Amino acid sequence: MERITDYQVIIIGSGPAGCTAALYLSRANIKVLVLEGMQPGGQLTITTEVENYPGFPEGILGPKLMEEMRKQAERFGATFSALEPVEHVRFTTHPFEVQTDSKLYEAPAVIVASGASAKQIGLPSEQALLGFGVSSCATCDGFFFKGKEIVVVGGGDSAMEEATFLTKFATKVTVVHRREELRASKIMQDRARNNPKIEFIFNTTVDEVIGAKETGVTALKLRNLVTNEITDFATQGLFVAIGHTPNTAPYVGQLELDQAGYICLPYRNSTVTNIQGVFACGDVVDHIYRQAITAAGSGCMAALDCERWLTHERITERWDLPKGEEERVGP
Ligand code: NAP
Repeated sequence: MERITDYQVIIIGSGPAGCTAALYLSRANIKVLVLEGMQPGGQLTITTEVENYPGFPEGILGPKLMEEMRKQAERFGATFSALEPVEHVRFTTHPFEVQTDSKLYEAPAVIVASGASAKQIGLPSEQALLGFGVSSCATCDGFFFKGKEIVVVGGGDSAMEEATFLTKFATKVTVVHRREELRASKIMQDRARNNPKIEFIFNTTVDEVIGAKETGVTALKLRNLVTNEITDFATQGLFVAIGHTPNTAPYVGQLELDQAGYICLPYRNSTVTNIQGVFACGDVVDHIYRQAITAAGSGCMAALDCERWLTHERITERWDLPKGEEERVGP
């Protein structure tokens, strides 16, 4: 397998966190490779209009925003490599190793910005209408449902939060949950139950999303799990709020993860992980805010932390020396 040692920092992930880290590091003259993964640009590339990213008063399409972020990092010399998923990493030796399906990279520092994926129900019709009436993010897309009737699927805190938030826009929000009881905390349940715009349908799953890209969502096929009865439920939107999964499979056994699989950051106000020289930022460490702007902010922090660490370890200095002279400079 081809072994590549050309880069000082490997950034894994190309969402707002990875791109911002790449911009800051390449602008500081550090040689950076961004491994974009199978979804270059990350979760924003599956949303439509982004209206809450500062600096774009008219809004900007998610894919366009990510294209601009990437271009900005490339302008300072960052290299991007698409569709090369990370399969394994080795952080127990230094330089660190990052192995993709086709190459083995070695670098003195790594930034993990691999994000999280919103869990989906798993229906082909849900996938087909994602961004066309089906969404996983009320903060991102709620505004487009002004004056409409919508459904939120899920019974946890996320579903209650999204349903409550969506009542700012929608005329009616129906929470569809697969069990008799909600999983959400009492305070979040009470808030949703006391909201006159929110209704609940229990013991029910969504079997199919009905609609088209041109018309958006028009109805859902709902299955009552007690009677097995299937009904068409007219609605104009579907928000799937059944949790998120951090993209951390390659880091199991290499980095400290919390119970939900997010990367742990042991120090306050720092993006360093339990391994010195490995940093993490964006949604892979954040299950609370999950916004493009917060991910970008933490990508900036990771770049600054990483740059300081490289300087402190005198790695940047060694990198600038002609080949063969590096060993004269010790840490
Ligand atoms: P969660 O607590 O795991 O709840 C997920 C919900 O989705 C459950 O009700 C689950 O049903 C349902 N579900 C899962 N897979 C499904 C499927 N395939 N089809 C239909 N329904 C499905 O996830 P979460 O609500 O995202 O919360 C995650 C964590 O973040 C929690 O610790 C939560 O407290 C926290 N959080 C906190 C806040 C806040 O405090 N403001 C807001 C959001 C999240 P079952 O109940 O049947 O398993």
